[in-house]
Amino acid sequence: MVAQSYETSTPALYAGGMTFASRPGAGAGTPAGAPGAAATSVLVVEDEPAIATAVARRLSAEGWQVETVGDGLQAVDAAARLAPDVVVLDVMLPGIDGLEVCRRIQADRPVPVLMLTARDDETDMLIGLGVGADDYMTKPFSMRELVARVKALLRRQQRAALAAELAAAGTGSAEPPVAVGDVVIDRAQRRVHRAGEEVHLTPTEFDLLLALAASPRTVLTRERLLAEVWDWVDASGTRTVDSHVKALRRKLGADLIRTVHGVGYALEPAGAAGAAPGGGPA
Ligand code: CA
Repeated sequence: MVAQSYETSTPALYAGGMTFASRPGAGAGTPAGAPGAAATSVLVVEDEPAIATAVARRLSAEGWQVETVGDGLQAVDAAARLAPDVVVLDVMLPGIDGLEVCRRIQADRPVPVLMLTARDDETDMLIGLGVGADDYMTKPFSMRELVARVKALLRRQQRAALAAELAAAGTGSAEPPVAVGDVVIDRAQRRVHRAGEEVHLTPTEFDLLLALAASPRTVLTRERLLAEVWDWVDASGTRTVDSHVKALRRKLGADLIRTVHGVGYALEPAGAAGAAPGGGPA
C-alpha cells in the first residue's frame, strides 16, 4: 500500500466521527481537572475528509477538543451528545444539508455556528433563509482566519455565559434593559421584545442589535460593528454584518434599521421618530 498522508488515511474512522484531543487529561472523564475549566470543544462538520482532517488538526493545535463528522444527521446527534462550544459547519453535506443541521442544532441548544460556504453569494442566500449561523467563511479559506474566527466566537460565547451567570446569581452587574422606541433589550436575560412581543434572536443578532442600540440614530460603519460584535476586522467580514442586519430586519421589522449606502447602519426607532414634531412620515 502506498504511504498515506494523515488527510486520507482514516476514512472509515472519519465517517464514524473521530476525536482529536491535543491535551491528554483535558477532555471528558477528568473531573479532577482545573476547577470550572472544561476543555473547549469544537464540532467540525465536513464531508470532505482532507478538509475535515486539516481543520481538526489545526483547531486541535489550539488546545481544543475537536470532533469531526461528515454527515448531517450525525452532526445533529454529535451536537446533542457533545454540547460543543462552537460548531464549524459545511453547507453541502450528505444526509441533511448544513442549513437544516444548523436549524436543528440551534433549536436544541444555542451554540455559535461558523458556516463554511462554497461561494460568496451563497452566504447572502443562507442569511436570507434565516439559517441562524453566527459567522460565514467562503472556501477556500486560510487556517489562520478560521482560527481567528473560532476564537472570536468563543470569546463572545464566554462573555455571554458570564453575563448569564451574573444575572442568574443576581449579582450587582446586572444591567438595566435598554429601550429604543418600542424595542426593549434585556441585557441581563439577553431577551428582546418589540411592542410587547418577544422576538427570538441568535446570540450574534442580539449582540448586533445591542451595538446598534447603544447609539441610536447614529450611523455605525460595518467595520466598527464587525469589531464590536464579531471581535475581529477583515474586509471579508463586512458581508457578515450585512447578512445579519438582514436577519434582524426580518425578525424585528424592516423599518428598524436604516442602511446608509457605502457607510453602514443606524438604528431608527419607529416610536421615537413618530414622536418627533414635524417629522416626515417614515
Ligand atoms: Ca461539503
